[in-house]
Amino acid sequence: MHDVLIIGGGVIGLSIAYEAAGRGQSVVLLEQQQLGQEASWAGAGIVPPGGDARTGTAVHRLQSGANRLWPLLSEELRERTGIDNGYFRCGGLNVADGERCAELQAQIEEWRRCGVEHELLDAAALRRVEPQIAPGTDSLVCRVPGVAQIRNPRHLKALISGCVQRGVELRTGEPVRRIHRRDGTVEGVSTTSGRLSAGQYVVAGGAWSGELLSQCGFDAGIVPVRGQIVLLATGSSPFRHIVECGPRYLVPRPDGRVLIGSTEEWVGYNKGTTSAGVQGLLQFAMGLAPSLAEARFEQSWSGLRPHAGRGTPFVGRLPECDNLLVATGHFRGGLSLSPITARLIGQLLTGEPTDFSLDELGLSPG
Ligand SMILES: Cc1cc2nc3c(=O)[nH]c(=O)nc-3n(C[C@H](O)[C@H](O)[C@H](O)COP(=O)(O)OP(=O)(O)OC[C@H]3O[C@@H](n4cnc5c(N)ncnc54)[C@H](O)[C@@H]3O)c2cc1C
Repeated sequence: MHDVLIIGGGVIGLSIAYEAAGRGQSVVLLEQQQLGQEASWAGAGIVPPGGDARTGTAVHRLQSGANRLWPLLSEELRERTGIDNGYFRCGGLNVADGERCAELQAQIEEWRRCGVEHELLDAAALRRVEPQIAPGTDSLVCRVPGVAQIRNPRHLKALISGCVQRGVELRTGEPVRRIHRRDGTVEGVSTTSGRLSAGQYVVAGGAWSGELLSQCGFDAGIVPVRGQIVLLATGSSPFRHIVECGPRYLVPRPDGRVLIGSTEEWVGYNKGTTSAGVQGLLQFAMGLAPSLAEARFEQSWSGLRPHAGRGTPFVGRLPECDNLLVATGHFRGGLSLSPITARLIGQLLTGEPTDFSLDELGLSPG
């Protein structure tokens, strides 16, 4: 019998498996399809800035913790597996027009409170920093040097390889159908190929977690929210910073590709791209960086983000169920928050105190 059984092989489940195995736990991970092919593959790979991890909301603490862990984890995985996940601090520009200015002002105020480095750029400064970016004349522009990026598919490959090296049993094509509980303890799970037991269990099923949690009496309100992405190829990157404009953004890759994201669509478990989605993203991109009109259209795809009804992720042990943990509902931030989520769950699995209180990230019976 394994110490830990993890349900879900996205970036959250794989990161937890890698972390738990690194802490000496024997781990089995069950994935209903293929490892790392859902939201975690589809994401843009933006890592928001970190600040003082002792202040702010739980989500800010998660972000600050994650921001600090990324360079260390990336280096460790590169040395261990030979796979470079492409992590680097490219910096970010936040651009807002019209009514979005108030939102960005509030964000700037939070960065100030939490010690996140940032600077406002006027039009002349923006031209010096990123001459290819042309927002409206009344736009508010803020540069945030701590923003980083990674290449999701490479990071997932590195995690899978790291898990294999640490002896994690990775089982694919094996959906968990049922979680069996008795007297507040999980006794096992049923999959399509039989029943399995472990000392502790972790639900990390992304947008599919709601059904698993409701079997245990918890209504986490997890629903899928589709995000579409367009990938363009340019000769060489026309700009260096990630440019964010409300929910949409441009991510320049060092190889000259530019990723345009993303839509937010409440269309159930319905993946795929649409002409309206792709058109909207292209218009946004060419409006902000007109030179992208000459770029080659390479690809588009979509993924299903796990949205939690209350707006913040669930990370912790389930009350009234002492050997069941949950790590889901990360919505637009699951990739960037994966290292800190794994660290906190790893601490809970091995009975260590967590880096900070998880009260705000907990789940109550539904
Ligand atoms: C277009 C787009 C852009 C994004 N950009 C960013 C970004 O720039 N930065 C960022 O931080 N985040 C980003 N995200 C969000 C991020 O991708 C997600 O929050 C994150 O991938 C969630 O990871 P996960 O492991 O919880 O879910 P998933 O990657 O969806 O993995 C869950 C896995 O669990 C498996 N599973 C589910 N139920 C079962 C079961 N019963 N039995 C066995 N296996 C099961 C699924 O098959 C799946 O493989 C983006 C998402 C999208 C869609």
